[in-house]
Amino acid sequence: MEKKEVIIIGGGLSGIMAARTLLNKGIKDILIVEKSRSVGGRLATRRIDKGIADHGALFFTVRSSELQKDVERWLEAGWVKRWFGNPYPRYTSVNGMNALAKQLAETIPVKQNTKVSAIRDRRDGPLEVELENGETISADHCVVTAPAPQALSLLKGMEQDELSTISFAPCFVGMFTLEGPSSIPEPGHLDDELPQGVERVVDHHKKGISQSVTVSVYMTGEWSKKNEQFEDNGVLKEIQKVAERYLAEGSEIAGAELKRWRYAEAETVIRKPFIETGCDNRIIICGDAFLREQDEAGRTRFESAYLSGISAGERVAEKRKGI
Ligand SMILES: Cc1cc2nc3c(=O)[nH]c(=O)nc-3n(C[C@H](O)[C@H](O)[C@H](O)COP(=O)(O)OP(=O)(O)OC[C@H]3O[C@@H](n4cnc5c(N)ncnc54)[C@H](O)[C@@H]3O)c2cc1C
Repeated sequence: MEKKEVIIIGGGLSGIMAARTLLNKGIKDILIVEKSRSVGGRLATRRIDKGIADHGALFFTVRSSELQKDVERWLEAGWVKRWFGNPYPRYTSVNGMNALAKQLAETIPVKQNTKVSAIRDRRDGPLEVELENGETISADHCVVTAPAPQALSLLKGMEQDELSTISFAPCFVGMFTLEGPSSIPEPGHLDDELPQGVERVVDHHKKGISQSVTVSVYMTGEWSKKNEQFEDNGVLKEIQKVAERYLAEGSEIAGAELKRWRYAEAETVIRKPFIETGCDNRIIICGDAFLREQDEAGRTRFESAYLSGISAGERVAEKRKGI
């Protein structure tokens, strides 16, 4: 059986930050196991026609000194830019948010296209991480970063009262390619005075990440919940009606795609950066729904995932020293 010191389940931002923290502390025998074909999770960008469109996080804000320091490095490296917002800037990756995740994960060992099906925790041996492909990897510590409802299903048989209090709202996002410009004003982001059920509308060309004009329409959690039972075509048709309102004269919609996020934003959060469970607390659960006690924003976002991942990595490093 393959053995690792630390297995991190999920290659979203919190998993990437947990891994980077461990590597910075000299703990190298680690592995991220990610079910998708690339890292990033909800930092998601899709190639559509000749352009690209973000369909998860669009930007991030910064309140903590940790993220501020990293953002200065990322600005210098040309990975991110200020998109809009004064005095509180919204930063975005210059090539779509997924590119930032890939840049951050460059030196981290990742096993992609691999879904974890369960974690077995036997008192008399290492943790056993069972994969859907039938393999098992053993580990001394495990960091679980999947959204809480998915994390719960991996931890069957373990007491998980706290984790089960977290619930997530869905979010449906329509992505459209346009022949011609949109009427969305610079800088390409609208979140005010929108039709009912619409959370935000974005022009990625004006955002500066897409050569051709692509527009993403983000529906509210409430709208997405109400439309969960309908098929993709019907849902996309409804969202396209919104996109059509933002066509400049003479422009047309040339292509449309839908992304359904089942777990987009936590409706309830936990005011701790992670929780520990299992024999000797060898399993750490973290992610964007785990907030620091003094978190001012009080909601799930890029920065909460970033900080939770760092705290989880630091905790594993402490445990290794027997603290
Ligand atoms: C539509 C949308 C818009 C958003 N907009 C913004 C925004 O503008 N600004 C902002 O700050 N935040 C925004 N967010 C929130 C932000 O994207 C998230 O808070 C953050 O990316 C979450 O990171 P995470 O690592 O905690 O979780 P995730 O990114 O969800 O990562 C979890 C990873 O675990 C993997 N995984 C799950 N189960 C398994 C398994 N069994 N085996 C292996 N891998 C598994 C998943 O594939 C995923 O890659 C948005 C989110 C969505 C969905």
